[in-house]
Amino acid sequence: MSAKSGFFSKVRRGLFMTHTEILEKLGDAVKKGLGFDETVLESLEEVLLEADVGAETAGALTEAVRRRGGSSSKADLSELKRILVEEIEAVIARAPKPAVLPDVPLEVIFLVGVNGSGKTTTTAKLAAREIAAGRSVLLAAADTFRAGAIEQLEIWAVRLEVPIVRHQEGADPSAVLFDALAAAKARGTRKLFVDTAGRLHTKKNLMEELAKMRRIAAREVTGAPHQVLLVLDATTGMNGLAQARRFVEAVGATGVVLTKLDGSARGGIVLAIYRELGLPVLFVGVGEAIDDLVPFDPAEYARALLEDAPEDEVRRGAAI
Ligand code: GDP
Repeated sequence: MSAKSGFFSKVRRGLFMTHTEILEKLGDAVKKGLGFDETVLESLEEVLLEADVGAETAGALTEAVRRRGGSSSKADLSELKRILVEEIEAVIARAPKPAVLPDVPLEVIFLVGVNGSGKTTTTAKLAAREIAAGRSVLLAAADTFRAGAIEQLEIWAVRLEVPIVRHQEGADPSAVLFDALAAAKARGTRKLFVDTAGRLHTKKNLMEELAKMRRIAAREVTGAPHQVLLVLDATTGMNGLAQARRFVEAVGATGVVLTKLDGSARGGIVLAIYRELGLPVLFVGVGEAIDDLVPFDPAEYARALLEDAPEDEVRRGAAI
């Protein structure tokens, strides 16, 4: 499977570009300055912003480097890197933790986010993981507004050999959800994945529609939706984060799936998600194939973001 052979190198390549950029810029600055002078600190803040860690985190990390290394004239690039990795690890150690979910007979999982973020693809990828773990799955095609979304999910359902509840394009998403909840209960399904709209074509307000879907799920199944996964495209950077915040405020979210990390050199967005959305990153998408979804490991990430990739670690990752 491509996830087994390639995901680690794909993620690492994405992050490695950040790493190389950081080192190049900082290397130049360190050579010119004496220790971590203001030129170095400015360059540091700049590259952190470019890597999408977010303004507050960039400021806080730079300040920590200033505090810890500022006066040392011997401070060099490796010292700077060491301090930065430690500080990033500290940010990650304080990251929001995924909720421990009770074992329920039927778990209802909503996928929310803007159009194009990867909701439909991620719905299929998550379903595939559950099937592989031996759990029964039902898909609900509740993105009734994006042209082709229903057919796209249906193609995945056929490939994965899982049932799907769908209505016609433009149908009421809540009606699809209602039918899917009834079907899941009747079938004794373990996991119901609900692909939702990123935009509505009517005058209806999307956030109100999603809130209504939450209420319907809660009414029909105790504790539902058990998870609301915010799907976020890593390549959209801070703009994407601002849009995503609207979903968090309106419908709540329990975690983030960060997609297209394979196409992004801006892995720093994970830190911005922690700080600015207060949500754990649960999975990262590293490609368009069904197995291009990886559970996110914060500790691994901290190392990959800034340290050189030792050969054995790459091999170990590839062997998972
Ligand atoms: P939706 O509008 O949110 O349902 O988004 P889609 O699931 O249709 O995804 C939009 C596009 O992004 C599609 O072409 C997907 O194949 C692609 N995509 C989704 N996830 C990833 C990922 O992790 N990596 C890459 N490279 N492409 C992805």
